[in-house]
Amino acid sequence: MKIVFATNNPHKLQEIREILGPTFEIVSLADIGCHEDIPETGNSLEANAHQKAEYIFDKYHIDCFADDTGLEVDALDGEPGVHSARYAEGTDHDSEANMQKLLSRLDGKTDRRAQFRTVIALARRSDVADYTLFEGIVRGTISREKQGTEGFGYDPIFVPEGYEESFAQLGMDIKNGISHRARAVAKLAEYLK
Ligand code: IMP
Repeated sequence: MKIVFATNNPHKLQEIREILGPTFEIVSLADIGCHEDIPETGNSLEANAHQKAEYIFDKYHIDCFADDTGLEVDALDGEPGVHSARYAEGTDHDSEANMQKLLSRLDGKTDRRAQFRTVIALARRSDVADYTLFEGIVRGTISREKQGTEGFGYDPIFVPEGYEESFAQLGMDIKNGISHRARAVAKLAEYLK
């Protein structure tokens, strides 16, 4: 089954292809010739995922899904949440700056509980556009300093529940077994199958 994943992030594409396996041919935005910036102006992960899937579906009329992920820190009332990519002012997907800002916001705080939450919106052809949402959550804690080099984004400072090491130390195999995205994608795969 061919389905567009509304991203050009190579890490996410690789993760999702590994999780979904060969039954699904996951194509990227570049693969369908979409090179523009897709609007992402919602104030929730759900709104953004829906907005991105709708944009691609309306323009290309193909089955697609889009995701939005946020790191939600308990002691910061869910920050950075929907703002995870641009948490450090004046930056965009600058992981280093985002992690530094988060570590300094948590400086001196003992409650370091957090979660990664992914929302996937699936848009499928039917008489009317049909949207379905899937959610995946992994709980964990924010470490006091960066550890590890694998993965991307906030991986070096996120230690998933039940482990002593960060996602960036645990590596892709373990991360893909338990991650927020893996859990959301597992629900998506179950639904598609
Ligand atoms: P996006 O909107 O899904 O691209 O993600 C928003 C922000 O969360 C980006 O800054 C990413 O770096 C970060 N992020 C998303 N997924 C992960 C992950 O699996 N690990 C670490 N950071 C992530």
